Amino acid sequence: MNTNHLQTPIDYLKGVGPNRADLLRKELGIHTYQDLINLFPNRYIDRTRYYKVNQLQRNSTEVQVIGTITNLKEVAQKRGKRLVATFQDDTGQIELVWFRGQKWIRESIKLNKQYVIFGKTNWYNGTFSMPHPEMELLEDHEKSLRSAMQAVYPSTEKLSNKGITNRVVHKIMQQLFIEAKSNFSETISVQLLSELKLISKSEALFNIHFPKNQVLLAQAQYRLKFEELFYIQLQLIIKNLIHKSKIKGFPFTKVGDNFNTFFKEYLPFDLTNAQKRVIKEIRQDLGSNAQMNRLLQGDVGSGKTIVALMSMFIALDNGFQACLMAPTAILSAQHYHGLQEYCNQLNISIKILVSSTNTSERRKIHESLENGSLDILIGTHALLEDKVKFKNLGLAIIDEQHKFGVAQRSKLWKKNTTPPHILIMTATPIPRTLAMSVYGDLDMSIIDELPPGRKPVKTVHRFDSNRLKVFRFIKDEIQKGRQIYIVYPLIQESSTLDYKDLMDGYESIVRDFSQPEYQVSIVHGKMKPEAKDYEMQRFVEGKTQIMVATTVIEVGVNVPNASVMIIESAERFGLSQLHQLRGRVGRGADQSYCILMTSHKLSNDSKVRLETMTRTNDGFEIAEVDLKLRGPGDIMGTQQSGVLNLKIADIIKDRDILQHARFYAQRILKQDPNLSSSENKVLLDTYKQLSKYKNIWNYIG
Ligand code: ADP
Ligand code: MG
Repeated sequence: MNTNHLQTPIDYLKGVGPNRADLLRKELGIHTYQDLINLFPNRYIDRTRYYKVNQLQRNSTEVQVIGTITNLKEVAQKRGKRLVATFQDDTGQIELVWFRGQKWIRESIKLNKQYVIFGKTNWYNGTFSMPHPEMELLEDHEKSLRSAMQAVYPSTEKLSNKGITNRVVHKIMQQLFIEAKSNFSETISVQLLSELKLISKSEALFNIHFPKNQVLLAQAQYRLKFEELFYIQLQLIIKNLIHKSKIKGFPFTKVGDNFNTFFKEYLPFDLTNAQKRVIKEIRQDLGSNAQMNRLLQGDVGSGKTIVALMSMFIALDNGFQACLMAPTAILSAQHYHGLQEYCNQLNISIKILVSSTNTSERRKIHESLENGSLDILIGTHALLEDKVKFKNLGLAIIDEQHKFGVAQRSKLWKKNTTPPHILIMTATPIPRTLAMSVYGDLDMSIIDELPPGRKPVKTVHRFDSNRLKVFRFIKDEIQKGRQIYIVYPLIQESSTLDYKDLMDGYESIVRDFSQPEYQVSIVHGKMKPEAKDYEMQRFVEGKTQIMVATTVIEVGVNVPNASVMIIESAERFGLSQLHQLRGRVGRGADQSYCILMTSHKLSNDSKVRLETMTRTNDGFEIAEVDLKLRGPGDIMGTQQSGVLNLKIADIIKDRDILQHARFYAQRILKQDPNLSSSENKVLLDTYKQLSKYKNIWNYIG
């Protein structure tokens, strides 16, 4: 069966008909033969063994029994009624029970005929019963396509209520294989098949649905998973190549005075090797003719800001402007104050624009941007406003990417007639597998090394009942001149309960840490920006020793003297948030601590999160655990989960296959970028088909 034939609507398959077709469409999204063939089983069960009734075990899992139905009756129960059948073989009898779909069962069951039934048994009141068994007449059973392992397909309650049981799906599938004569067009090149020792498409499809044995099943799964991931990678890499050849960027050909003078005279520390490598990657990219679209990953505190600054210098050295966009006003201000110092030394003009910037300042910014006298603009999404026009924007940097959507990225693109180069910096590392599948079309730079001399933050978990000890510890640290963060969860901006927790906490801290000996700051989302800034500033200047806050301080704040991070109700935070918060300490020379406070009531997931936090400081490792706990869709948000909606592969479990797939896709496109050779024709054809019927590109701007 070729790809065109596979696009036949499912209605046309013998045994389906309009009603079933409708259900298959609505419940499982099966519209065509192709969709049906790609309905991959969730699992397999052993149907080679037949049990006698007297062999059933009380703990039995799924069993298969041959026998006859001798009696069928309705039994009233609290709500509605159930249908009960007596089923017997020559060793005894059991009950079959239906709570739903009774009409259909009553009409279709044939008394005193041999059936093969299959299902889970319950032991109750001295008898076995089997709710909602799968049933097949023995004569049909003997004729049907048998295999050692029987596929169990995804289903829904509605489907089983309407009689589309697993057995029915099986039969429909069988019919499709009969029409196709078990012959499906190959979709992978001969070279790749032989190099990777993959089984053919036809063999793989047959064995995924009707496995002959374990070995063939495993080979079928491997081949189909590889194929799925391979074509996604092929699409992503092709997108990247098209992007590079079609979208011209400004070539930043020289590295000039700003960059060099800064590097030689003002750089306050030696760059780590990872920073050097990444700057080199960015420089090469900016120097080419293509527009850069690069993702810069690095753990909290790995020094991404300096990389951003030096990249902006390259833009300036080539006569362009640059901007840096951050998710919050606090973080923008932090960046601005940090970078302003260096810019002053170099005579570079830099300004900040946030939503609270006043009108006259705004006017000045707009003007100087348009006449080109302003070199660097820092700010929040306020930068995206249409009124913000650059004379010649050459590089746009986005800090903390996941807070911004794709739409914002494309707005930045339009800030110049030729799109500026774009550098995206992530706040938290993204697991490799996820980065490959979701950002596979971006180029990637990774800072995998922290600046020297950092002492890893010591992290402990304490129960609320130990609060007094924790307070004593805080007092000792303050005695030594350190500063403390105490963070409360604010899961929803509007949650009054969360604010109450925060205010209660604040009051009890003020009671225990009373003036004038102690000064306590508080910052939360309901405060006016000026009030927030004032409190932040007092803490930054060391005028207060304790900062009580919600997660508004989460991203990027830099107070090197703060050495203790206390996270209240830590069980309510996600892993990446906990890691981000912990990253606020450990920035100075002193030993730092992170204390995770929780109640005694902990879910299994919370336990894993707390255990992970106390075990490791490595953001990449934490990101992997996070991915396992939450799943890819949750981490990337719904917007991007489409691409992760895989049919058979699983980017967490099949990460090795994913890496293989990416490697081969890259190699093939390197040798034959247009897939124009005869050996790659099959890849090109399949690729075109896939892009026609299933476009995975719409998830990225
Ligand atoms: P992040 O990657 O989380 O944005 P930052 O850029 O804020 O990290 O850097 C964290 C701290 O480390 C800053 O105080 C910065 O000045 C310092 N830093 C960055 N690079 C180095 C380096 N190579 N050596 C020493 N300190 C560094
Ligand atoms: Mg940062």
